[in-house]
Parts: sequence; structure tokens; C-alpha cells
Amino acid sequence: MGPSEFDLIERFFSQRTIHRGDVPLGIGDDAAILTVPKGMELVAAVDTLVADVHFPAGAHPSDVGYKALAVNLSDLAAMGAEPAWATLALTMQRGDEEWVKAFGDGFFSLADQYKVQLVGGDTTRGPLSVTVQMLGLLPPEQALCRHGAQVGDLIYVTGTVGDAGLGLLIQQNQLAAPQSIRHHFLERLHRPKPRLKEGQALRGLATAAIDISDGLAADLGHVLHASGVGATLSMHRIPLSEAFTGMASEVDRMASQQDSLWPPHLITALSAGDDYELCFTIPPDRRTVFEALVRGFDCDVTLVGEIDMETGLRGKTSQGDVVAVTTSGYQHF
Ligand code: ADP
Ligand code: MG
Repeated sequence: MGPSEFDLIERFFSQRTIHRGDVPLGIGDDAAILTVPKGMELVAAVDTLVADVHFPAGAHPSDVGYKALAVNLSDLAAMGAEPAWATLALTMQRGDEEWVKAFGDGFFSLADQYKVQLVGGDTTRGPLSVTVQMLGLLPPEQALCRHGAQVGDLIYVTGTVGDAGLGLLIQQNQLAAPQSIRHHFLERLHRPKPRLKEGQALRGLATAAIDISDGLAADLGHVLHASGVGATLSMHRIPLSEAFTGMASEVDRMASQQDSLWPPHLITALSAGDDYELCFTIPPDRRTVFEALVRGFDCDVTLVGEIDMETGLRGKTSQGDVVAVTTSGYQHF
């Protein structure tokens, strides 16, 4: 792209990124050159955020920059990989320097934290959209895949679920939250924490893993489908934040219909996306080793259920009654 405003953006990014020893050639040439260490495999993921589809066009650019990288880091976390390099394709109506600067604030705050070097990209004119490609490293045969869950495995979730979903409802003015907890939900929506340390620690322990981008029920569903198994969730164990629990009765009141035993706020927690927590499976004979390891994590980890032979997803009450969990066809309002 010719115009100087775009040249400025490239120069601006090349000046802000950290420099890694394994990048013989970064931003500035026709392509970047990266050194993959001997004995490691290259892991690649890409995600696009489109304005007014994945974020409001008026969203704060630093939040957009942060999240565009965070969702890709989360994919690497779910593979157990270590992030290394990123490329960035930016499409904008015009070269808005203020916007790009703030975008970089969010992007590089996270990139620097995880020692990710921005090694290249593309800048084009058009409707606002951001594509980040994330490249990382993994020892052979150590990846956490979706297809490895076995009957009897225990299902765990990091952190809490449903917070980003309430953040979205709050942002869209569909849900009113007290000022004191409003910030918590919006922070969870805009600034998800990729669980990289946790994902890497699960190598050799977890039989399957996925990051929760589309909701626990849907993403666990991908694992179940890929592994050819089913699961039963202990519904009273689904990890909810204190803030979420505080909003539960309000969420239940807003729901226009209740089509199962499960209260609407619980179905919301299972079906709301954008949390970017990890969901993974651990064989019961590794449980002790795993639970000792978890003490070093930055977040809580909760045992939420078990893999079983019968396909599909079921929920178990604290009394032990088992009822199907359906999040599709659920009318939110
Ligand atoms: P080419 O026409 O050869 O693709 P460009 O003018 O698109 O070159 O880019 C020049 C250099 O700037 C390349 O090294 C490219 O990787 C980098 N670059 C362009 N846009 C971005 C961006 N949004 N983020 C990071 N690097 C970028
Ligand atoms: Mg180009």
C-alpha cells in the first residue's frame, strides 16, 4: 500500500515490537525469516476480528489490539504451545494515527508480556478488520488435541465462565449491572487472559483441550465430537464468579422462557462465549499429579464433570438426577 500514512504505520509497528534472537529478518522486507529450534514443531493459528461483527466499530482501539492478539494466544494455549511470533493484517478506512497508536498500546502490552515479536503484516484500505496470525513452538507429539478424550476422564475448566457473556449484554445495554461489578464484566469481555502457562503445564497430562470461545457447552461439544464420546456435567459445580452469581436472579428474570430444569443464568454461563478459559480432560489415574500441579496456576481450576460413553451432553443435579443440557434453541429474551 503506497500512501505515506500507511508507511508510517509499518514503521510505527517495527519500532514498537520486541526483538527475539530467533528472528533473522523481521518487519521491512517482502517476508520475515524465523528460526525454528531443532527438535521443535511450528504451530500456527489465525483469527480475524471484523468491526461491528466481533467488536463495535467505536470500541476503544487499545481493547481491539489487545483482544486481536489475546484470542490467538488463547488458541496456542489450548494446544499447549509456546507463542513466539505474530503477523498482523490491518484493514482500515484511513490511516488514523491516533487509532493505530492506541491499537498498538493494547497489542504490544500483551505481545511484550509473552515475548511475542511482530514480524510482519499487511496494511490495506477498506472496512475496519484485524487479522492476527500467531506462530508458536511445541515439542513433537506434545500437542493438546481435541480428539484425545477417553471414557472416564475428568473434565476441568480454568477460571469462571459466563462473565464475558454478561459483559456483552451490558455493553449492548440489554442488562443493567451495578457500577461496582460492571467493570468486572466489561474487563472479562475486552481483556481475556490467555491461559498460556496453564496450557503448557498440561502437556503430557491432559488427553484433550480446547479454549472456550463459543461457550463451554459448544466447545466441550467439539471435544466430545472429535473424541467420539459424551459427557455429564455436574451443573452445581460450573464455576461462576461472585459477580456473576450476584447477577443470577436478574438474568433469570430477563429470560422469556425456561425450557428445562436448569435455570436460565446457568444456561447463559454454559452458552455465552468469549471467556477464553481452557476446558480439558484428565485421566483419573493422573488426578493426584494434576491437582498438585494446579497449585502453581494463576487461576482456579474446577472439576466440572466426566467423560462417558453415551454421546451428547448431560447435566447432573446435586441430588444426582441426570437431565439433557440443550443450549441451542434457547431464547435469551
Ligand atoms: P509488500 O508490498 O512487499 O507486501 P508492504 O508495503 O505490504 O510490502 O509491507 C512492507 C513491510 O511492512 C513488510 O515487511 C510487512 O511485513 C510490514 N507490514 C506491513 N503492514 C504491517 C502491519 N500492519 N503490521 C506489521 N507489519 C506490517
Ligand atoms: Mg503487503
